[in-house]
Amino acid sequence: MRECAFAHRRYKRHATFGTAGTSMLPRHTLRYAERTTTPRSSPRMTVVGMKLTDEGILSQVLGSRVSRRTFLKFSAGMAATLALPAAYGARIARAVEGAPRIPVIWLEGQDCAGNTEGFLRASHPSVAEIVLDTLSVDYHETIMAAAGDAAEASRKATMDAYPNGYILVVEGSIPLNDDGVYCTVGGRTFESMVREAGENALATIAVGSCAFDGGLPMAGGGPTGAVGVRDLLPGKTVINLPGCPMNVQNLTATIVHYLTFKEFPATDALGRPLFAYGQLIHDQCERRAHYESGEYVLAWGDEGARKGWCLYKMGCKGPETYANCPTARFNDSTSWPVKAGHGCVGCTMPNFWDQMSPFYQRLPVVPGFANDVTADQVGLGLLGAVTGLTAVHAGASYVRSRRQRNQVVAASVATPAAAATALDEPEPPAAEEGGEQ
Ligand code: SF4
Repeated sequence: MRECAFAHRRYKRHATFGTAGTSMLPRHTLRYAERTTTPRSSPRMTVVGMKLTDEGILSQVLGSRVSRRTFLKFSAGMAATLALPAAYGARIARAVEGAPRIPVIWLEGQDCAGNTEGFLRASHPSVAEIVLDTLSVDYHETIMAAAGDAAEASRKATMDAYPNGYILVVEGSIPLNDDGVYCTVGGRTFESMVREAGENALATIAVGSCAFDGGLPMAGGGPTGAVGVRDLLPGKTVINLPGCPMNVQNLTATIVHYLTFKEFPATDALGRPLFAYGQLIHDQCERRAHYESGEYVLAWGDEGARKGWCLYKMGCKGPETYANCPTARFNDSTSWPVKAGHGCVGCTMPNFWDQMSPFYQRLPVVPGFANDVTADQVGLGLLGAVTGLTAVHAGASYVRSRRQRNQVVAASVATPAAAATALDEPEPPAAEEGGEQ
């Protein structure tokens, strides 16, 4: 039985799914199996639940549902996601083709299972999904079919069989108050489970904002003493993929990076991969031209909203948020919040529930914008002045963006606190702020 103070529901993980019976097959894998016309006795069905083998992933992938052309396209996409030259696509394909499978233990603490939903969410099996699925997800509380002692035995067996050879994925925050009683699994505190599994993991990947820094359970000084994974595993390799939820494409790319280069991607001081969290959303946003032109949504459903104008005045936090949402997108890369018409809430940033709220209140000053030009001034039509300032703005924006990024990178060799300071550095006061909104 899993008992969590924060979970939306208390549920038994003793359910079995479909035809899984008492097997260790994850539910989503069974779902795919049911969709395919491949007989259940086919080799593909033997893939799931296998341990680390010499068998390459690609052979398994191609042997099932994905053409080589599609796989190469996926590899090129991964190169783009990792901000690598296109030529790396072939190298990624070769690396993944010959890579052994990696056991994964996925633990859930104080969470809403949103990242698990993101992990499973796809309208049809995608290559990324298959690559993740082809990992040996030996333990996942929400989706595994095994229950009770058998589930615990699976987790223990993986840790024993692959010391420093498995990936630990943690979803949800870890409560420390009152000896961690606010989240227990099988009678054990979640804290003890993360410490134990993280001790000998190849790496730990914290998915979602709660696992990043405590997230919602720690917002406003939450009562459970929630912390993120890094606080619990000092000195260990911890990759943070914050977001509410994280983008599964970034999880895929992180693993593909390891398969290709035998090391995890470079991160900032907060443990976030630079390929995914190295740029401001504002600098990648498809509505940026409207921001520059002073064309803003002023009310939900107004003309600006219908025309896809900038959401800055509706509270968009894109100008202060580092993430690749505009390029990676969600739901099979079809959309992301700003494209759908809602401002960014800054969910990839530290303590965003407290620091980025109220979510519908505009930022006072936009980092990256020229110090002496506010959005209101642009909006008021000082375009004549802005014409002259455009070059200044472009230069200032670039310099300031570079400066902030450099601070983060420089701080990455220092301490997380230093990086947080760099990210939170107050902007110089604007010369004048309009009163609109
Ligand atoms: Fe896009 Fe938001 Fe920046 Fe406007 S303020 S350009 S909507 S990120």
